[in-house]
Amino acid sequence: MGKILEVKNLTVHIKTHKGVVQAVRGVDFYLNEQETLAVVGESGSGKSITMKGVMGILPKNGKVVEGSVMFQGNDLTKYSERQMQQVRGSEIAMIFQDPMTSLNPTMKVGKQIEEMLKEHRKEMSKADRKTRAIELLSLVGISNPEARYDQYPHQLSGGMRQRVVIAIALACDPKVLIADEPTTALDVTIQAQILDLMRDLQKKIKTSIIIITHNLGVVANIADRVAVMYGGKLVETGDVEDIFHNPCHEYTKGLLRSIPKAHEKGGELQAIPGTPPDLMEPPVGCPFAARCKETMIVCQKYMPDYTDCGKNHKSACWMLD
Ligand code: ADP
Ligand code: MG
Repeated sequence: MGKILEVKNLTVHIKTHKGVVQAVRGVDFYLNEQETLAVVGESGSGKSITMKGVMGILPKNGKVVEGSVMFQGNDLTKYSERQMQQVRGSEIAMIFQDPMTSLNPTMKVGKQIEEMLKEHRKEMSKADRKTRAIELLSLVGISNPEARYDQYPHQLSGGMRQRVVIAIALACDPKVLIADEPTTALDVTIQAQILDLMRDLQKKIKTSIIIITHNLGVVANIADRVAVMYGGKLVETGDVEDIFHNPCHEYTKGLLRSIPKAHEKGGELQAIPGTPPDLMEPPVGCPFAARCKETMIVCQKYMPDYTDCGKNHKSACWMLD
């Protein structure tokens, strides 16, 4: 399996009136064809800004200041906005947390799927677009798709709306789907259904998926590999079984301890004490040093290099050095 996407040394700065936020600080990761990579980390770790940097949809005050995003042999950071518009939706699609903000409340859902096809599949006839829109509604598990086609977003439940958002994202058969906290705004039973849907879809249509989540618990069933982000850096990456059974970074271990386990009612659930670093003035050493139980003097002073802790598995921690 080849790499469909390879990000190297991605560095993103966001200028604010208070100073420069170093939101992403030299992040490396790749995505293999037809695999699901989960990017996990607490809120503020830099997950969303990393992916917005990849997609070229950073906020106006944000900029990729270093690094490359290789997609099918081309560096997307060198693309013009016009070239990126061709890539977005058609080659790489992204879905966000809140389906309501991605949908147009005044347009029927079927038409919203067709808009995507109009933009990127100019050769399609009107009738073909409608057929495809209904096919996509059915693909994402919406029953009675012909009737749903003519409904507005407010006539659908939250879970249905997120299904529509996924249908729009998949309309042009993107090679990569990036889902940023796609289930966070939904209640728990619906979350599970959407995750199941994404797993089924991947088998059916063979897209490569990046799923972003702050909850390591949701990745066990859906991801092949995991990338753990903290303080704008990638601190550990590995195959999903390795991350769960042999976590190497204290931050990853902390995230694992904070997953609620259904079968251990009342068991000790430990949030990681402390708060993430201020990325306006990020620590010079390991970003987790201030919260780490095992912290040493070197951790505060220098950022550790990555150490191999198994096949496909590496972590940036001085204790592994
Ligand atoms: P995550 O998705 O992991 O929760 P983000 O990528 O959204 O984190 O944020 C990374 C850092 O960038 C945080 O310190 C956050 O406060 C900052 N940030 C994100 N968006 C903006 C913005 N529009 N303006 C200023 N700072 C931002
Ligand atoms: Mg985010």
